[in-house]
Amino acid sequence: MTIPTELVGSLPRPMKLQEAYQDLDDGKITFEDLQAEQDKAAEDSIRRLEETGQDLVSDGEQRESSFATYPITDTLAGTGLADNLAGDGQFFAIFDDGHHRQLPRLTGGPFRYKTFASEFVEKNKQIATHDVKQAVIAPSMLMLLYPLEEELEGYSREQFLDDLCDEVEKDIRQCFDAGAKRVSIDFTEGRLANKNDSRNPWTNKDMLQEFIDLNNRVIDRFSPEERKNIGIHTCPGGDCDSVHSKEVPYEKLLSKMFQLNAGYFLIQCASEDDKESVYKLCGEYSREDADGVPQVCFMGVINPLDPEVETPEQVRDDLVAAAKYIPVERLGATDDCGFSPFSRDEKPKHGSPDFARDIAMQKISARLQGAQMAAQELGVAEKSSV
Ligand SMILES: [Zn+2]
Repeated sequence: MTIPTELVGSLPRPMKLQEAYQDLDDGKITFEDLQAEQDKAAEDSIRRLEETGQDLVSDGEQRESSFATYPITDTLAGTGLADNLAGDGQFFAIFDDGHHRQLPRLTGGPFRYKTFASEFVEKNKQIATHDVKQAVIAPSMLMLLYPLEEELEGYSREQFLDDLCDEVEKDIRQCFDAGAKRVSIDFTEGRLANKNDSRNPWTNKDMLQEFIDLNNRVIDRFSPEERKNIGIHTCPGGDCDSVHSKEVPYEKLLSKMFQLNAGYFLIQCASEDDKESVYKLCGEYSREDADGVPQVCFMGVINPLDPEVETPEQVRDDLVAAAKYIPVERLGATDDCGFSPFSRDEKPKHGSPDFARDIAMQKISARLQGAQMAAQELGVAEKSSV
């Protein structure tokens, strides 16, 4: 046994790749040209992650418009938007620095993905020498594509949710079929659901339980053996080095989130003011038996929005503190969030996305070293085979 570690998903895209996304929107290059840049950045991401010693690697979402929109659009500006969608949907979030991100709007049925995450897994398996993980988007995020109040003519909300659950199930299954070892579901809208932001109507509708029930509709289609490797990621957002829901009391989410029948959780924590209360809540609410699987809590020990690199000792101390409340056999380490969940992110606090990529690798190395040190201190380090 040891303390497992896993990254959430994204890494900052190199400036050159971000410019290529812009050039595609401006009609200066073709989609194939963009893909060539994505492939280069993906290969660099995997190589550098493997150098840190990270056992499960990803391409850092270099090929995705964002963690939420990869199935339905090639760029955030809407180039290559899937059928039956328009660009002017709901705000999915308004961030503390004032910027916002907007979802497309469903105009009719049927709802279908145009891109499945397994495409990325297939490509990454060709490059990686380590095991591959893939993050996918939760149905609870994409349900916001449907107009909040009205019904679409000829395509009921219920019909849409049925189609959506089928697409998300397919997205996850195809990732495993393509060789992904683990698939984590991004659930950043969980904490945001209790924000009651008057500028963003869906956050006033107390939708958290609806989100959880919808996500379980998909998760429950998988066997306990499969669900061991299906995770949930929660965070208060992370974009342009800013957050969207950190002021929402964490207990509102954590007291409900473990109803999700997933086998593991990637839980933002490093940036919390009161980390101990988060450990306590996770210890209290996470389940030893979630319909056949124990729930492993991967606690965030790295803050991807802060350019200051955590030390391995800080990581160790956080995990040792967490182990007072969370059984060590159900404890892991992660980062608070992806390092750049949206493709256009200049990482303002870092100064540049290229510098932020270097910082991200240093942070991941610190997480790995710190987890190893914590495992030793907690007496669960793997015995060396040499
Ligand atoms: Zn996140």
